[in-house]
Amino acid sequence: MRFLNSGKVKDVYDLEDGTLLFRFSDRVSAYDVKFAQTVPRKGEVLCKFAQYWFDKLPGPNHLVERTADTEMVVRRMEMIPMECVVRGYLYGSLMGRYRKGSAVLPEGTRPVLAARLPRPVFDPTTKSEHDIPVDRGTALRDGLVTERQYDELESASISIYERMSAVAEGAGFILADLKLEFGVLDGGLCLGDSIGPDEYRLWPKEAYREGRTQEAYDKQILRDWLIEEGWAQRFEEDRAAGRDPGPPEIPSGIIEKMTARYVSAYERIAGRDL
Ligand code: ATP
Ligand code: MG
Repeated sequence: MRFLNSGKVKDVYDLEDGTLLFRFSDRVSAYDVKFAQTVPRKGEVLCKFAQYWFDKLPGPNHLVERTADTEMVVRRMEMIPMECVVRGYLYGSLMGRYRKGSAVLPEGTRPVLAARLPRPVFDPTTKSEHDIPVDRGTALRDGLVTERQYDELESASISIYERMSAVAEGAGFILADLKLEFGVLDGGLCLGDSIGPDEYRLWPKEAYREGRTQEAYDKQILRDWLIEEGWAQRFEEDRAAGRDPGPPEIPSGIIEKMTARYVSAYERIAGRDL
């Protein structure tokens, strides 16, 4: 077993037989800043959620088996250098880009925060350190994907989003958006990486109806705290000035809330104890 790399969340090892071992940590990052503290049980929720979705979704995926609470073996692939984001709601960076005038919304969108989009949209980004949105033309011109791959990725991503939305809906959640990664395996596209609350936004339906979209069951809990305390703004200023932003200390209440909500989202959606 050869250590490959330590990502923001996972430690990846090459098992040198065409497979990789993913070890999910409790590490947490937001706005591309890594924090010193960890979120207890987060790795376990991410790992078990990934297994749950890979088992549930149709179409090829890279999972071989889950080997421990926080470990899974996957088939090694050549990854597509594009993050396949699907959005069902006007939120996050799409809202930011819309406000700056750099995003086109589908016809009939109500331009208010957290509005449901008339249809899910494919909104991919690069896979660079700080993800940059790419449209079809740019993705093709920059050689990220072929024309056929782009179209396949778009339709596969949207249909996975729709399937996952239906499952989340049944458990009382709205799946606001989702990030998927694909690789190439045996000449075809294959779903890779991980699928869990670091890759999507989940809102309880009831809170949404009452206008409380900030009741997040995902990483937005941390992002919201960072926005409230002015850190998000400071990160941006630091970057603009060429400084590396240092992480603040996350209060224990925020950490506990993340653990509780991550665990409860898993238990409600998967219908079993963690
Ligand atoms: P980010 O999610 O922002 O890219 P990261 O890359 O720093 O974060 P991780 O997600 O923990 O952190 O790292 C996992 C890496 O492994 C990613 O670069 C992902 O694209 C890659 N990967 C996922 N599945 C496979 C696979 N089956 N074969 C090869 N590489 C994979
Ligand atoms: Mg990743």
